[in-house]
Amino acid sequence: MRMTDAMRAVFVELLVHGPLSRAEVARRLDLSPSALTKVAKPLLDAGYLREQSSDGQKGIGRPSQPLQVDASRSSFIGIKLTAEELFAVRVDLAATVHDRFSLPLPDHDVDTIVEQIAQAVRRLSEAGDVAGVGISLAGTATPGDPVVGNSPFLGWSHVALAKLVEDAVGVPTVLNNDVRALTAAQQWFGAGVGHSSFALVTVGAGIGCGLVVEDRVVTGRSGGTGLIGHLAIDDRGPLCELGHRGCARAFAASSAIRRSIATTLDRPELTFDDCLELARQGQPVARRVLDDAGRALGRVIATVANVIGPDLVILSGEAVHMYDVCADALQAALTRHTHWTSTPVRVTVKPFTFDEWARGAAVSALQHLLLHS
Ligand SMILES: [Zn+2]
Repeated sequence: MRMTDAMRAVFVELLVHGPLSRAEVARRLDLSPSALTKVAKPLLDAGYLREQSSDGQKGIGRPSQPLQVDASRSSFIGIKLTAEELFAVRVDLAATVHDRFSLPLPDHDVDTIVEQIAQAVRRLSEAGDVAGVGISLAGTATPGDPVVGNSPFLGWSHVALAKLVEDAVGVPTVLNNDVRALTAAQQWFGAGVGHSSFALVTVGAGIGCGLVVEDRVVTGRSGGTGLIGHLAIDDRGPLCELGHRGCARAFAASSAIRRSIATTLDRPELTFDDCLELARQGQPVARRVLDDAGRALGRVIATVANVIGPDLVILSGEAVHMYDVCADALQAALTRHTHWTSTPVRVTVKPFTFDEWARGAAVSALQHLLLHS
């Protein structure tokens, strides 16, 4: 269905903030009641919106029949590519995950991966048509650009992945950097709702950052923004895999934390979660490494906050459960490195499941196709 700008505005307002009364939608979008009626009618007729039954409403009097998006009206598939696997989910319009699927990637040959993606899309489309496919990966990829600029872990450079997938599955396909895709999901369906400027900092295999400034996910030139993983923290620190001494990643990436503790204790069998448990128990080496990691993250968050002045910073990612072990060091560093004219930004810790990467990719497709087609 082709939406006018006014229809799109009403739909997005209800998708992100609904259900809302007609009066509230009209007020938020500066529409007259009759203009809203005219804009909402085709959306109601096509099943994208529905009137909430008054049963669920509190109070008495004239039923106000709030409007809401019918989340079941459309589905999107999100796919996250890692070096070893493809993770896929099918979501509804409210970004609720209804099905998931994963496949190992036998190699990084482009045709092979396109065929694996097509297989995932076919499998997840069995329950009904999908309106779009989103694909996210670590590297330079931007919604609206069908080409993956660079993906070091796949060994790809200038691969027209969106076009290849569209040709294979016949569904509009949108690419995005994985952290920016998560940021889009937080903006419309997560802790970012209601905040015009926020940052998402992820911690896991790397340190990532997505930025929303004045209601826009910032993509930058060639898709390079939020590249804070190698921010210099302390030049007496450990080395990262690129040879920087004491960058954020060398202190706070989960693999760096694990390696540092396992090597010092000569216990190569330790997992990352074992290391967190040792720190919780007060084991001195683990404690020191997690304190250093917390300090590095606090400094990263302060730096991001000093640069963009966000309403809040959302901390998430595969290793975000380390927060409870390093929160004191993180908050102390955040206070210390926040510019003296500001108060430290509020940090919201968002628990993470691996599905969220693929869900973010689906939201990227939803967001891009809704706003730009
Ligand atoms: Zn580095």
